[in-house]
Amino acid sequence: MGIKTKLMAAGALALAAGSIAHAEQWPQAPGYYRMRLGDFRVTVLSDGSVERDLPALMSEPEKVRLRFKARHQPLPAHLSVNCFLIDTGEHRILIDTGAGELFGPGVAGQLIKNLHSAGYMPEDIDIVLLTHIHGDHSGGLSIGGQRVFPSATVYVDDADPALWLSKDAEARAPLAQRPTFEQSQKTVGPYVTAGRLKTFHAPATLFAGVQAIPLRGHTPGQSGYIIESKGQKLLLWGDVIHSADVQFQDPSITIQYDVDKRDAAATRLRILSETADSGTLVGGAHLSFPGLGYVVREANGYSWAPRAYSSQP
Ligand SMILES: [Zn+2]
Repeated sequence: MGIKTKLMAAGALALAAGSIAHAEQWPQAPGYYRMRLGDFRVTVLSDGSVERDLPALMSEPEKVRLRFKARHQPLPAHLSVNCFLIDTGEHRILIDTGAGELFGPGVAGQLIKNLHSAGYMPEDIDIVLLTHIHGDHSGGLSIGGQRVFPSATVYVDDADPALWLSKDAEARAPLAQRPTFEQSQKTVGPYVTAGRLKTFHAPATLFAGVQAIPLRGHTPGQSGYIIESKGQKLLLWGDVIHSADVQFQDPSITIQYDVDKRDAAATRLRILSETADSGTLVGGAHLSFPGLGYVVREANGYSWAPRAYSSQP
């Protein structure tokens, strides 16, 4: 190879490296994952991932830092944002909607792109169930003040709109929580105006094969949804776990986003114990995509056993 050819080759390599350095020119593969649950078709839809400085956000920073180091995981942490679509044949039920435009371009907000890739249109969704109202779960409901899911009725436990859609509560809330009030008005508000927001009080049976259970603490109305068909069960538990690397082993560690940290930790302990005993399949909003797996009881705390990948859903 002559020196000129060598230089050209180096240049081509540099160019290639330069072009893949920009995520927008090299996007992740479509984020959807399918599995059957009895007669239901489940599609996990990725809204993308967000980077969070978890030691700064969690209750025991040094423990969190050490755990990430021991488990060879990068910090800031990459938190998946997962949404779940249940196609019952009769209904297309979307559980959580990701962040929409709230976190800015290129960060999360990938739900609709991945919904299309999975073969569905936003108009196909007739039911949206929110595990709770928070930007990364309810933010995708509306873009630019317009409802993204025009055919859908949105369901949430009554304790969450009683907080996040209340002007009185907003005036009393700590400063750190204020953005959630504003975001809720912007993204959940259009469904209220259209008469498309319905509330329940968990525990409640919502539809055939869909039950809401209370998981209060992270927010006052956080709910899990138990999806059941032909004796097969899936529990979608929202934000019971923000960091699998930390909170399975040490469920007492809380995160700044918890509205009531004590209740959030108590709920986590209770549901980890129940799901470890029952062996129920779990889907988590921030467990690494597709976020499906099982809770295992250990001598110290619990661990997470991801469900094996299958190319035959
Ligand atoms: Zn969340």
